[in-house]
Amino acid sequence: MQHFPIFLAVSGRNIVLSGGGDAALAKLRLLLKTEARLTVFAPNPASEIEAWAVDGRLELQRRALQSGDTARAALFYAADEDPSEDARTSAIARSEGALVNNVDNLQDSQFITPAIVDRDPVTVAIGTEGAAPVLARAIKADLEERLPSTLGTLARIGKAFRKMADHLPMGRRRRKFWAEYYFRSGPRAMDQGGEKAVRDDLDQLLQQHLDAQEREGHVAFVGAGPGDPELLTLKARNALDKADVLIHDRLVTPEILELARREAILIDAGKTAFGPSMSQDDINQLIVKHALGGAQVVRLKGGDPTVFGRLDEEIEAVTGAGISWHVVPGITAASASVAAIGQSLTKRDRNSAVRLLTGHDMKGFADHDWRTLARPGEVAAIYMGKKSARFIQGRLIMHGADRSTPVTVIENASRPDQRILETTLDALSTDLVEAGLTGPALTIYGLSPRAAASELNLPQEQELA
Ligand code: SAH
Repeated sequence: MQHFPIFLAVSGRNIVLSGGGDAALAKLRLLLKTEARLTVFAPNPASEIEAWAVDGRLELQRRALQSGDTARAALFYAADEDPSEDARTSAIARSEGALVNNVDNLQDSQFITPAIVDRDPVTVAIGTEGAAPVLARAIKADLEERLPSTLGTLARIGKAFRKMADHLPMGRRRRKFWAEYYFRSGPRAMDQGGEKAVRDDLDQLLQQHLDAQEREGHVAFVGAGPGDPELLTLKARNALDKADVLIHDRLVTPEILELARREAILIDAGKTAFGPSMSQDDINQLIVKHALGGAQVVRLKGGDPTVFGRLDEEIEAVTGAGISWHVVPGITAASASVAAIGQSLTKRDRNSAVRLLTGHDMKGFADHDWRTLARPGEVAAIYMGKKSARFIQGRLIMHGADRSTPVTVIENASRPDQRILETTLDALSTDLVEAGLTGPALTIYGLSPRAAASELNLPQEQELA
């Protein structure tokens, strides 16, 4: 971020603008919405500016700006549409301590004016660092359409009612009250009876919420998918929106955690593959403790919570404590990985079954039905298979698997740093050591990428082999 968005208190402060043409008019239309004191310097002002001056909405000086004119200004706009004049006035304003915006010159501006959606007191500011004004306008148009024009009025009435709403306990119950006001009962009352009806409705709504029973805690076991936030389900997003407490594992990416409700408590219960940093018992207790305290707990697990996620142990702990729960499935690493290489997990006449294997379990490297897996055409998605690659390779070859069987390792599937390692059973462990993968990686035994990487639209750097 080269520009940090803030909302500046301008009530009663001086804002000075130099210029009297179209650029000046565009800025003044925005500035006139504020409670700032506006002074315009323009030898030849447009007639609108003259009219505003007559109405007392701004002060007009029919001359060029001079030293001393910006001495008490908080902001200054250079809007003469003449680079040398703009440079001259900017230099004065800057030396007199005002923050300067040069309307045609991003480089020489200390601040920029965003695209604004005005539902005062609700104001949305949209900026693109000057990179894509078209985009800013499109977003503005989209928001204008979506935010009802009565929103400003509802917000003003709501603001005056805040003290009353403080009778509700802080947190979820108070949020629920406001959500119902802004999105359901408020707009409805406004339609039916205007501002008076909205005020009456607020009183009733508050009473209902004060009478309501405190809700009980609940646990949602939610799949976060392989890492790309767009691969979250809508249900997962909704759960993130409601969470009071979010307990996540190491696979959950920062981009996804960003989506959690801002007030949610985030707890990292990440375990490394070898040597847990927080024991499963600790995690179970943590979930139960928060839910018993009345929180909406989201237990967020990478991929699908039902795949190598120790879900059952957590469900047992939660049920044991008499807490309600539900599971929101997610996209597992195997699905994301085959998608990355344009292959199917199952295929007619090749494999009618697919195995999800773990490379290691509680006892160490995991044993599997190697004899069956060694048959031609078998496909297996091997989770946590990096450290156990040599062991798996040895077992399969010992049981007669063809050394040239294709194997593909996908690291960071679905994420910007996704890498694809195309190899064979014979070369698997050496190639893996050489590649030095550091992120989560899924080994797909029995499949190679369908087409050359270029045909899969993969950026070059994603290729390893
Ligand atoms: N519940 C998860 C799996 C947890 S086990 C799921 O459904 O995907 C952890 C293993 O999953 C990792 O060791 C790795 O093998 C695999 N994995 C998880 N996310 C991955 C990703 N984005 N890319 C590749 N492998 C991933």
